[in-house]
Amino acid sequence: MTSYLIINATLVDAQVERRGSLRTDGERIAEIVLPGADLATVAERHGCTIVDAAGRWLIPGAVDPHVHFALPAGGTVTVDDFASGSRSALAGGTTTIIDFVTPGRDQSVVEAAELRLAEAARSCCDFALHASATAWRPSTAVELRECRDRLGLRSLKLYLAYLESIGLFDDDIARAMQTAADLDLTVLLHCEDGVEVTHRQQQLLAAGDTGPSAHPRSRPPEVETAAVVRALDLAARTGCRPYVVHVSAASSLAAITAARARGQTVLSETCPQYLMLDAARYEASFADAAAAVMSPPLRTPAHGTALREALPRGDFDVLATDHCAFARAQKDLGRLDFTRIPGGAAGVEHRLALSHTLGLAPTDWVRLVAQRPAEIFGLYPRKGSLEPGADADLVLWDPAAEWTITSAADHHPGDHSIWEGFPVKGRAEKVWLRGTMVVDGAEVTARDGEGRFLLD
Ligand SMILES: [Zn+2]
Repeated sequence: MTSYLIINATLVDAQVERRGSLRTDGERIAEIVLPGADLATVAERHGCTIVDAAGRWLIPGAVDPHVHFALPAGGTVTVDDFASGSRSALAGGTTTIIDFVTPGRDQSVVEAAELRLAEAARSCCDFALHASATAWRPSTAVELRECRDRLGLRSLKLYLAYLESIGLFDDDIARAMQTAADLDLTVLLHCEDGVEVTHRQQQLLAAGDTGPSAHPRSRPPEVETAAVVRALDLAARTGCRPYVVHVSAASSLAAITAARARGQTVLSETCPQYLMLDAARYEASFADAAAAVMSPPLRTPAHGTALREALPRGDFDVLATDHCAFARAQKDLGRLDFTRIPGGAAGVEHRLALSHTLGLAPTDWVRLVAQRPAEIFGLYPRKGSLEPGADADLVLWDPAAEWTITSAADHHPGDHSIWEGFPVKGRAEKVWLRGTMVVDGAEVTARDGEGRFLLD
C-alpha cells in the first residue's frame, strides 16, 4: 500500500501544536519528521507519496463514541445504516465510531451483541460497541461478563428514561452499576427522570398540547439534573465509573462538577447541538420543530453559553454527537402527538467543523473529539494519537475554510439537517484510515466493510 509523507503541516494532537511532517508506513504512523530534515531524501528512502500540507493542520482521526446507526425506534428504523452512516463520519474527519448494543428485554445481551457485530461489519470506518442493559435478569451479570471477556465490550449504557422500553428503575440501575464496578466497565448514563417525563407528557397531551413545542416542556432541565444527581449518587455508592452522556443543561454540569469536588470521578460528554442551537427551534414549522426533537431537548441560549464556557475549563471530557437520523416522513409519525416523533438528528458528519467553529485552543479541540474518547473507551494510543506506532488515522484539516452546511451536500442519506444553513469554519480536506486515503475533497472512497472492529 502507498506510504505517505505529509509535509509542511501544523501537527496538532491533544498535547502540542508544532510544525513538521509525518510519515506513514502501511497502516501505522512511522515517524514525525521535524523541520530541517531533508524531506526529499526521506521520501525517496521510504518510497513515499508526498502530500504538501502547507497552511493545513494534521490531526488524529476523530473518535465519536456516541452514534446510533441502524437503530429501530418508535416503530421505524433510522435512515442510515453502518455503511452510509460511517461514510458520512469519514467525510467529516471521524475515523472511529462507537455504537450501541441494545438488547430486547427478553434477549441475552450476548446474542444481541453478536447480531449487532454482524450489522456493524458493513462499517466503512473503524468501530467499537457499548453494551446496554435494558432489563435486569438473573443472567444479565453473566452475559455482561461474557460480552467483556469474549467480545471485548468494556462499557455499559444505562437509561434512566424510556422506562416503558429500554430504561431501568433505580433498583436495577444500582444492580447494573454494581456489576459494572465488578467487571470494570465504564457506565454511560442517559440521565432524564423517566417517571417525571412520562407524567409531564401525559399532562401536556391531556391538555391538548400535542405539537413539538410541548417536547422541551416535557423534559425541562430540572428533569435531567435530578437524574444526574441520582445517578451519580448511585454510582458513588456502587463504586462504578460513570460517564454522563449528552449533558444539555447548565444545572446538570453543575451537579457533575459538584460531585467531582467531593472527590468522585465523573466523565462527561456534551454535543454540538446543545452548544450551538436552542429551543426556539420548537416554535418553527412542524417539519423544522420535529427535526429538532431529541432527548434531552435543545435548551434556552443561556444553557448553551454556560456549556460553551465550560469547554476551555476542561469540565467536559468528550464532544460526541448522539447521531440518530430520521427522514422527514419518519418525523411525521408524530404529527398528531409529539411523543411519537422519533427522537434524534444527524450530526456525525459535522462534529469537527461545528466544534472547530467554537474557536477552542487547537489542542483542547483534539482532546475533546479524539484523544479523550479514545482513552476513556480503551482505544488510546492506537486511536486519537499522532505518535509513531498509532494507526495512521489522519485528517488534513483546513482551519481557514469558511462554508455553510447544506443537507444536499452531506454524505448522509437523510433528507434534511438541523444544521441547514449553519455557517462553519474549518473543513476536512483529506482523511486517512489506517494509512489508506479514504476522503479526498468531497469524494469518499472507503468501501463498505473496510472498517475494523477494535475490541476483539
Ligand atoms: Zn444516544
